[in-house]
Amino acid sequence: MYYPEDLVEEIRQRNDIVDVISEHVKLKRTGNNHMGLCPFHNEKSPSFSVSGQKQMYHCFGCGVGGNVFTFVMEYENYSFVEALKYLAERVNITLPEQEYSPEAKKKADLKGQLLEINRQAAKYFFYQLKSKRGTTAYEYLTNRKLSDETINKFGLGYSNKYSNDLYQYLKQLGYSDEILKQSGLVTIDETKGAYDKFWNRVMYPIMDVNNRVIGFGGRVLGEGEPKYLNSPETLLFDKSRNLYGLNVARTSRKHNMLICEGYMDVIALHQAGFTNAVASLGTAFTGLQANLLKRYTGEVLITYDSDGAGTKAALRAIPILKEAGLSTKVINMKPYKDPDEFIKALGAEEFQKRIDEAQNSFYFEIDVLQRDYDLNDPEQKTKFFNEVAKKLLVFTEEIERNNYIEAMDRKYHVGFDNLRKLVNHYGATMVPSQAVVKKVQERSNKRVTAEDSMRQASKLLLTWMIEDTRLFQKLNGVISEKDFDGELYQAVAGMLFGQYKEIGQVIPAKIINQFESKEEQSEVASLFSTSFQEEMSMLEKEKALNDLVYRIKKYSLDIRSRNVTDIEQMQSLIKEQADLQKLHISLIDG
Ligand SMILES: [Zn+2]
Repeated sequence: MYYPEDLVEEIRQRNDIVDVISEHVKLKRTGNNHMGLCPFHNEKSPSFSVSGQKQMYHCFGCGVGGNVFTFVMEYENYSFVEALKYLAERVNITLPEQEYSPEAKKKADLKGQLLEINRQAAKYFFYQLKSKRGTTAYEYLTNRKLSDETINKFGLGYSNKYSNDLYQYLKQLGYSDEILKQSGLVTIDETKGAYDKFWNRVMYPIMDVNNRVIGFGGRVLGEGEPKYLNSPETLLFDKSRNLYGLNVARTSRKHNMLICEGYMDVIALHQAGFTNAVASLGTAFTGLQANLLKRYTGEVLITYDSDGAGTKAALRAIPILKEAGLSTKVINMKPYKDPDEFIKALGAEEFQKRIDEAQNSFYFEIDVLQRDYDLNDPEQKTKFFNEVAKKLLVFTEEIERNNYIEAMDRKYHVGFDNLRKLVNHYGATMVPSQAVVKKVQERSNKRVTAEDSMRQASKLLLTWMIEDTRLFQKLNGVISEKDFDGELYQAVAGMLFGQYKEIGQVIPAKIINQFESKEEQSEVASLFSTSFQEEMSMLEKEKALNDLVYRIKKYSLDIRSRNVTDIEQMQSLIKEQADLQKLHISLIDG
């Protein structure tokens, strides 16, 4: 860390975690904590807990957690330094300007370094497009009716035909092979040397919501495979949690968002004034992307290709969008294939009409389903209504379900009561959903090992200690950091004991900063976030505490007794074992 620790700590303290998270997640107070729907995984009932007292968050569903810095880093995809700057600004603290040597900077902020490489590469591609070498690429774009303004706005570029052009350029700027390899822009092969990942392609810089280039898509010019190529996953670029165009779409001030299939669709839509269009990045639409959209809108309009593949992709995306709580509609672009073609042929006004007429995603699903059945054939007609009835089960609220049954009746004249009976029949006989079955299996498959249970005990004790600091004195001489199992637990316990010794209190949120990786930060937060299942009486608590300390200490002594090397160690161990048998920690005396 290259900002003074005191400053970091001051910034952390002045940014109350409940306030900061409330700006992004709706929280509700329950007891000592605030609960909300986790922004990092899809869920319907809240398991995301934020503690004002501990200044930490922890999700009981997916296990993420940390302090206010961790949250901002995760939520905004920021590096630590960016999160620090963001939070400093939020409370009007001016950070001192610091100059770093390239070496120090590299160590301190690899992510920042990779962002800079991407920015330089985007500039380079842009320059190539505007140069003589880029004529063919530029013509390709203008033939597709893109204006110069649009080309500039999206920072489109060209990677030319020389296979190590960009590599040479970035080398000149002083970047090492090691970091260039990590950028995903260059491949370094021991025999063939270094060559660019993209060449002879029109380049589309991919930006995150904060307008920073995190990767590229490239479309080949002329013949060549593959037609579209994306940056590989890197430290910056996670395809499943980014959307092309979202950096602009998030500020469009429209009440919904359009999702389409490709870069060109997004660009064509934006040029035609639909600045709320985004695309997933050459992969199937994911739950993380749905969550990302949820931050900015409540309604999504799918405008995928009108061919078979596009329809399939839409059918896959609909349940994911619904799961995230987004109202979902589908735009009909027939007879045209995609929004780009549609707008070129009929213009923006006609497209707006299609937006206004967009079909509720349930009707779309039923329409697609209907294509497989001949409704003039009584047997097929029956099968079709049976399938419709099963689909209607997704509506868990009766009123909503009845409204849809009514709508189906209006359209197919099946009879409201007939269809409702059928729905109720399936509702009663439905096997538990796949998800539930899977969870039960997982639980029974999971063998609880001695280590697992010891970790659980350690978590409980550490949580207890920070919630009731009297335990530090009571456990003095009984438990020390080396009694905890595993390096991480020992390190955390050591820091807690250290804090208590130094200042007579503990600040768990401060400890999080000592760990660099997200995984470690989440795990440390979970160490402080274990909760008791039920209310316990003082006596029960005391018994629980003694059991807990006994188990941890006994496990620790058992392990140590396996590695005894001399007689003195043996004697001290025997004494500790005898002491343990007499252990009694009282919670009742002050
Ligand atoms: Zn979660």
